[in-house]
Amino acid sequence: MSEAIEKVKCLIIGSGPAGYTAAVYAARANMNPILYTGPEIGGQLMITTDVENYPGYPDGIMGPQMMDDFRKQAERFGTDVRMGMVTKVDFSGDVHKVWVDEEIEIHADTIIISTGASAKWLGLDKEDHFARNGGGVSACAVCDGFFYRGKEVVIVGAGDTAAEEATYLSKLCSTVHMLVRRDEMRASKIMQERVMNAENIKVYWNTEAREILGEEAVEGIVVENNKTNAKQTLKVDGFFVAIGHKPNTDIFKDFLDTDETGYIITKPDSTHTNVAGVFASGDAQDHVYRQAVTAAGTGCMAALDAERYLAAKGLI
Ligand code: NDP
Repeated sequence: MSEAIEKVKCLIIGSGPAGYTAAVYAARANMNPILYTGPEIGGQLMITTDVENYPGYPDGIMGPQMMDDFRKQAERFGTDVRMGMVTKVDFSGDVHKVWVDEEIEIHADTIIISTGASAKWLGLDKEDHFARNGGGVSACAVCDGFFYRGKEVVIVGAGDTAAEEATYLSKLCSTVHMLVRRDEMRASKIMQERVMNAENIKVYWNTEAREILGEEAVEGIVVENNKTNAKQTLKVDGFFVAIGHKPNTDIFKDFLDTDETGYIITKPDSTHTNVAGVFASGDAQDHVYRQAVTAAGTGCMAALDAERYLAAKGLI
């Protein structure tokens, strides 16, 4: 049970680019934000190595270092960054109630949700290790494709993301081996056509990845045709997994409108959710762009929207 209820003007949930950017803006607007990091402190960039497409870092930067910089910048203006996981919310009244680690109860005038999304993985041995250590496994072609220029890669998946990423990779890599587990793709027709029209994308139907080869980094992928059980090894340097993302929004579902996958729906050109005073930013509400820079942009928007909301109510 809660011992004492803490009252705050602005509570930010999540510590990726969206959450920390919201914190910088909210702190500078005297909203005294408290930010709870969630379980993966720093968000998805913590499992990225070099980030080369974030403006302001001409030589690139390591994902974890970048998130450390984001945190320091948020703290410099007074954000109270706390470790902890929001486990329950109640958005039914004017004051938004949040429970942290099932113990601490907080009442917030405004909430900025920036809980992000998690890439789905296959669960193969070495997949997680290589993804976290620059070993050639990635869930983001736009982020990491550049490292495989002129090389061969495997991509798994058959939805719009996989088709889009395979097409993107085909412009950089010598050959893209695309593994589709059924005999058809889920991707829209136009995306499938792009895949089929790319000369260097080789589609393997009814085929699944079974094993990642290599000790320090990916050297090959053992794949199996699930109809014939025939196995073969594809010698590649990169292994891209594009089987979907899951937004981290389960705890909000009783109160916030989401799409069928769970992405929070925000009002056009804003970060307002269907609950007044609750704002959503970053990958928790964006399944289209999913970039650090776009997440940071919507984090900024959420803080500005929250500030205007508080000002209109005379709370700041
Ligand atoms: P989806 O859920 O649409 O597709 C996931 C794909 O991964 C499916 O083909 C699925 O296969 C495959 N898959 C899932 N699990 C495994 C597994 N264990 N092994 C092998 N394959 C697996 O996710 P997306 O990220 O592609 O798309 C999410 C949403 O975003 C969609 O609504 C999509 O339309 C949208 N989107 C739109 C874009 C655009 O319009 N430009 C770009 C990107 C996404 P199976 O088909 O057999 O289930």
